[in-house]
Amino acid sequence: MAEPTVGVLAVQGDVREHLGALEAVGARAIRVRRPTEVEAIDALVIPGGESTVIDKLVRMFGLHEPLRARLAGGMPAYGSCAGMIMLADRVEDGRPDQQTLGGLDITVRRNAFGRQVDSFEDDLHIRELGPQPLRAVFIRAPWVEVVGPEVQVLARVETGPAAGRIVAVRQGTLLATSFHPEVTGDHRVHRYFVEMVGPARPD
Ligand code: GLN
Repeated sequence: MAEPTVGVLAVQGDVREHLGALEAVGARAIRVRRPTEVEAIDALVIPGGESTVIDKLVRMFGLHEPLRARLAGGMPAYGSCAGMIMLADRVEDGRPDQQTLGGLDITVRRNAFGRQVDSFEDDLHIRELGPQPLRAVFIRAPWVEVVGPEVQVLARVETGPAAGRIVAVRQGTLLATSFHPEVTGDHRVHRYFVEMVGPARPD
C-alpha cells in the first residue's frame, strides 16, 4: 500500500520537526505553502507557532479557501497548539480579526494557561496511544473549553492547577493537541494520525 502524502502547513512555526516525525512513522511529508500544493496532499498537519500570524499568512498566500474546501471535503488534519486553534470552530481570547480554518466543533481558549506559566510539561495517559504515558510539552498553549457532541476527548491535563483541562481531541479524521509531540522524539501521536489517514488516495 502506498504511504500517504501528508502536507505540513509551512507558513510559520515548527515545520521541520513535524516533517521529521511524519517521515519517521512512514508517511511522505511535504511542505505546503502554495494553493497548488493543497491539491497534492492526502492529509494536513498544522504546526505550532503563532495562530494570529499563521492565519494572516494563510490568507495572504491564498491558502484559506483551498484549505477550507479540502477540510470541508473530509481531508484528515492534525493541529498542534497554534494548529489546534486553526482547526477550531471558535476561539476565546483571539485577536478581533483572527480567523480559523475550522472543522473541529470546539471552543479553544488561546494562551489559556496564563502568563505566569508560559510553558510546562505533564505526563498524559492516552488510551489510544497505549499504556505508556506521553510526555506532553505545552508552550503558551490553548486548552479546549467546550466540545461539541461529535468530539472525543483524548486527554486532559493530569497535574497542577490546570488539571482536568482538555488538551487533546478527535472528531472523525480531525485531531488536535494543545501540546507539541514533535519535540520529544516520541512519535506515537504522529503514528496515530498517519494510521487514521490510511493509505494514499488513488488518483
Ligand atoms: N500562543 C500561540 C497562539 O496563540 C500558540 C503557541 C504555540 O503554538 N506554541 O497561536
